[in-house]
Amino acid sequence: MVNIAEVVVDCPLKDIDKTFYYAIPNHLVNYIEIGSRVIVPFGNRTLQGFVVNFLDKIEESQYKLKEIENVFEYPSILDRKLIDLAKWMSYNYNSSLFSCIQSMLPRGVKLQFTEKYYLVKKTSDEDFNLFFKKPRTLGEIINNLKVTKEEILRCLSEGILEKKIDIKTNIQEKIDQEISLDVEQEEITLPVTALRQHELLELLTNQEWLSLSDLPTPLRNAAKTFIDKGYVKVREKRVFREPEFINLSEENGVKILNEEQKKAFDQLVKAFDSGNKEIFLLKGITGSGKTEIYLQFTQHVVNSGKDVIILVPEIALTPLMVSRFKSRFGDKVAVLHSGLSEAQKFDEWLKIKDGKVKIVVGARSAVFAPFKNLGVIIIDEEHESTYKQEVQPRYVTKDVAEYRISQEKGVLLLGSATPSVESYYYAQNGYYKLLELTNRANNRALPNINIVDMKEELIQGNKSIFSRLLYNSINETLQRGEQVILFLNKRGFSATTLCRNCGFTFKCPHCDVNLTSHHKGNFLICHYCNYSLTSPKFCPKCKGKHLRFNGLGTEKLKEEIEKHFPNGRVIRMDNDTMTTASSYNEVYQMFNEGKANVLVGTQMIAKGFDFPKVTLVGIILADLSLNFPDFRSSEKTFQLITQVAGRAGRAELNGKVILQTYTPEHYSIKNSATYNYLEFYHQELKIRESLKYPPFTRLAKIEVMAKVEGDGKKAIDQIYNSLKPKINNLSEDIQILGPVVPAITKIRGLYRYILIIKFPKGSALLDVINSYNFKKYIKNNVTSIKVDIDPGTLI
Ligand code: ADP
Ligand code: ZN
Repeated sequence: MVNIAEVVVDCPLKDIDKTFYYAIPNHLVNYIEIGSRVIVPFGNRTLQGFVVNFLDKIEESQYKLKEIENVFEYPSILDRKLIDLAKWMSYNYNSSLFSCIQSMLPRGVKLQFTEKYYLVKKTSDEDFNLFFKKPRTLGEIINNLKVTKEEILRCLSEGILEKKIDIKTNIQEKIDQEISLDVEQEEITLPVTALRQHELLELLTNQEWLSLSDLPTPLRNAAKTFIDKGYVKVREKRVFREPEFINLSEENGVKILNEEQKKAFDQLVKAFDSGNKEIFLLKGITGSGKTEIYLQFTQHVVNSGKDVIILVPEIALTPLMVSRFKSRFGDKVAVLHSGLSEAQKFDEWLKIKDGKVKIVVGARSAVFAPFKNLGVIIIDEEHESTYKQEVQPRYVTKDVAEYRISQEKGVLLLGSATPSVESYYYAQNGYYKLLELTNRANNRALPNINIVDMKEELIQGNKSIFSRLLYNSINETLQRGEQVILFLNKRGFSATTLCRNCGFTFKCPHCDVNLTSHHKGNFLICHYCNYSLTSPKFCPKCKGKHLRFNGLGTEKLKEEIEKHFPNGRVIRMDNDTMTTASSYNEVYQMFNEGKANVLVGTQMIAKGFDFPKVTLVGIILADLSLNFPDFRSSEKTFQLITQVAGRAGRAELNGKVILQTYTPEHYSIKNSATYNYLEFYHQELKIRESLKYPPFTRLAKIEVMAKVEGDGKKAIDQIYNSLKPKINNLSEDIQILGPVVPAITKIRGLYRYILIIKFPKGSALLDVINSYNFKKYIKNNVTSIKVDIDPGTLI
């Protein structure tokens, strides 16, 4: 009888997206679990794979299966629960099982296979022998030893050489050596001669264990001598490559919760203690003390012996949250986000896996943190679009978190000042439990939001990007020695460079978007493909010389401020300036210390910031996000305005917000200015219902990209025509729309075609999609087909 494992392999051939069966050799039976990483033969290669299932034993004679060669680690790298999650993701997001498993692991643990040649028999050839003292790769032998491939093959066949595969993880654990005196000091004082050796001896007598990496080089050499002579014992110690940590918070201990906070906290604790799965939506205005609840709830969970995952939308937000958690929980906290080096990520991940920490604060992928006693997942700013992964597997973090919490019978806590329409709908329906904080913790009033109609400004003869109110307010604020935040949403189509004579606009030749002006108008750049162009001197169409590089970007805005406000010291925060992990901290510190008094930025500055001296927030053009052609654009605008406004008047000083717009009557603008979430929600929900958008349906987006227009169209039509009857067969309320021409018809030289499917929850549509072979259309000039279930946007 033989044991059989079902294995998903890391196969470089993209098309292979299925599992394979392998026999488990007897000597490995006790070391292979579901989730084990195994080394398997595959064709004529050796690959890594993961065990995803065991099959019933079968008679050996029935099958001739290949055997698993080895298991890479024991206990297994993943557990059964995470494998179950991966299977669910694979089904729910139409993604390969291997990609789902891979998304749970840091890149550092990925295996590298290197073929090495070992000398196993002495040869007569002296040179050959001499050079072959250690295992070498084929390349090294051929290049360095000048041995031909034929010769190597001969040696292999004659048993002089042996080929083995060396397997290592991409990144290794960092090991340090520690030494301690092994003989009586008196014994050793005599033989020790050199000055350095005396110095080392002194250190060793004062301290039980000395770590080698702490010693300066000369002493380290002395230490080597001691080791060689056997004066010291040596032991190995794992070293963690700690993420850089800057303490940004003025965290001053546990707060006494106010009444609202206490009520929310008590419900969380009660649900957690009951041991049933429960999802909470904590809706609390900015500064209402949500984070304080996260901290105290985490304390409760950790005291009960369970682990906590805290998710934040992006790296930019992590340092603040990390600061607050680290200052409260110290080294119980690990951090995971894309700003860390691979080695740091690897070490943080291992700390989680080995149970050395109880809490992880991180971005999206930290939802897979391999805690063994996971009790709670907290998702801060749950409405943020960064929680949707935009590459395979295209998962929705909130849903993954819910799956994990169901496995653990734990608590999922979603926090936001402006919950997503979907989440609030679930809270209204009782699927989530609603917790509310309606007051700021320090009882500060929310700042007033003043709407300025920019059409009116133009009528009054003001053509500047600053309305008169904003202009005067900036002046006054700077004169009082206070600070200003100016927000400009660049996501939009406004950044045009046009000829004022004939109206010609400069477009990217590869993408269907306008180019944005950069570096004081010297370059025009495409933000999708980085195509750039030195700014032309005249219009290519009419040869007119009056070109206007009026791309209203943050760079331009910074210039305008410097021009109009002599005492304005401006810094910028956007994707162009936040290129390294530390640039965020630098800008943060500069503004915090008052070295700059105006901060200009994109979405990035909308959240998390808490600067006491900021009393004025200006929203340069709220319409930019409103005009974005997507079903979520009203919601996004409402959320952005509310969040940006929350940056004003966080401390003793009162804040003011000025919102510039061409559409002051829009329900998203009107209601955000009065902080009326409910009114906004009801209006938005009506639209979602009538147009059949989430939360009333789920969406699937199928996108074809092609080098040639006609080929892409043909593929999308074929997909549509063959999917349609299958969908009709389901006799469910499913709509298939398309093929639609997306808002951006071309990206990086590829034409795009989109099908949109609206389907009810619990629909069998996923069965249809998962059994449909999209890959067969990838040929000729069709380069890719993306299937996105629950997409973040439809554009
Ligand atoms: P949010 O996460 O909702 O924006 P925070 O938890 O950051 O709110 O709280 C805003 C500020 O109020 C922080 O400086 C926090 O330390 C403080 N704070 C929160 N809860 C209390 C409390 N119960 N008593 C006093 N200060 C509090
Ligand atoms: Zn482009």
